[in-house]
Amino acid sequence: MKPTNSIFTGLETTVFERMSRLAMEHKAINLGQGFPDVDGPQDVRQVAADTLLEGPNQYPPMLGVPALRQAVADNNKRFYDLDVDWQTEVLVTSGATEALADSIFALVEPGDEVILIEPLYDCYLSLVKRAGATPVFVEVIPPSWELREGELRKAFSSKTKAILLNNPMNPSAKVFSKDELQLIADLCLEFDCYAICDEVYEHIVFSDEKHKPLMTLPGMRDRCIRIGSAGKTFSLTGWKVGYITAAPNLLEPIAKAHQFVTFTTPPNLQKAVAYGLNKDDDYYASLESELKAKRDLISGPLEDMGFRVLPCEGTYFVTCDFAPLGFKGNDVEFCQKMVEEAGVAAVPISAFYGTKGPQTFVRFCFCKKDEVLNEALGRLQAWMGEMVVS
Ligand code: PMP
Ligand code: GLN
Repeated sequence: MKPTNSIFTGLETTVFERMSRLAMEHKAINLGQGFPDVDGPQDVRQVAADTLLEGPNQYPPMLGVPALRQAVADNNKRFYDLDVDWQTEVLVTSGATEALADSIFALVEPGDEVILIEPLYDCYLSLVKRAGATPVFVEVIPPSWELREGELRKAFSSKTKAILLNNPMNPSAKVFSKDELQLIADLCLEFDCYAICDEVYEHIVFSDEKHKPLMTLPGMRDRCIRIGSAGKTFSLTGWKVGYITAAPNLLEPIAKAHQFVTFTTPPNLQKAVAYGLNKDDDYYASLESELKAKRDLISGPLEDMGFRVLPCEGTYFVTCDFAPLGFKGNDVEFCQKMVEEAGVAAVPISAFYGTKGPQTFVRFCFCKKDEVLNEALGRLQAWMGEMVVS
C-alpha cells in the first residue's frame, strides 16, 4: 500500500502522554504532564453545567459565542491596554493547540521559513512541517535561557514568514525580557514577518512585572497573533478552549483554517469561559500567588537534594539540572529510572528539541496539591539516599 503521511507516520506519542502512562503503570506521582490535580473554579464549572442543561447545544457561531469574544477583547484592554474589536479580531478555538494549527496553516506555505525557539512546545515542529515550511531553530541555553541577538539575527532571512514565540515559555519557565521582546519586534519589522505568540501562561507570571504581549510593542499590533487558553487560566485543561486575537486581515484566513479544522467549540464551555474571564482581579492574583507558593514549595527541597534548580519566572514548571547528582545517563534514562524507582514522573527536556538539545535537564510540574508535592519530595529524598549507595 502507498505510504501514509511521512510527518505523522511513526511519530512518537507525545512525551506528556508517555510519561502519564508510565506514571500510571508504576503508580507514580505524576509531575510530568502539565495539568492541575484540582478542577478549576466551582462557579465557572457551574455556568458550564447550567448552560449545558439549558442549551442550546447546537453549533455556535463559527468565530465563537459573542459573550466569549467580547470577554477576550475586554481582557486585552484590561490587562494590556489593547483595543480589540471583538467582532473582527477575536476567534475562539478548541484549545491553544487548535489555535496554533489554524494560525500556522493560514499564514505559512511551502518555501517559507518559520523560526522556532528551542526548547519548543512539542506540537510546533510537526505543524510547521505539515504546513510545508522549513523550521529554523534558535536555541536559548540553560541556565540563563538568554536569547542571543547574533543567533536570532542569523535565523532571519527574506524567506522568514513568522517566528513562533512562547512567552512565558514552557518548559524553561522563562519570561522574555523587555529587551528580548524589542529585539524580536525589531527583526520582525526589518524582515517583514509575523509573530505567532503562544501566551497560554499569560496569567501565570511570578515577578512583580506583569506579562507583556509582543503585540503591545510599537509596530507589532498588526503583525502578532496572540493565543490564550482557558485551560491554563482556569485550571481546566480538559476543556480545550483557546482564543486568538489578531488584526482582521490575519484573523480572516485563520478563521478559514478553523472552519475546516474544528469549526466550533462546545457552546456551554465557551459561555463558562466568558464568565471566567470577567472575574475580578483577585481571581487572577490568587492564581499567581498560589502557584508561586507551590513553585517555592518544591524548589528549595529539590535544590537541597542536589539538583541545580533553574529560575522559574512563570508557567506550571520548574526545570532542574540533574548533572550535579552524578547520574551517568541522559534525561530520558533519568526520568525512566525516577518513575520506576522513586515513583515520581517528570519530563525530559530533550523532548522539547528538534535538534539534539541538552541531556541533563528534567521538568517538574508543580500545579499539584501541597500534600502531593510533599509526598513526591519525600519519595525523591528516599530515592536519592539509595542512588548514592547503589
Ligand atoms: N502551548 C503551550 C506552551 C502549552 O504548554 C500548552 C499545553 N498546555 C499548549 C500550548 C496547549 O494548550 P491547550 O491545552 O489549550 O491546547
Ligand atoms: N502543555 C502540557 C505540558 O506541557 C501538556 C499538554 C498535552 O499533554 N498535550 O505538559
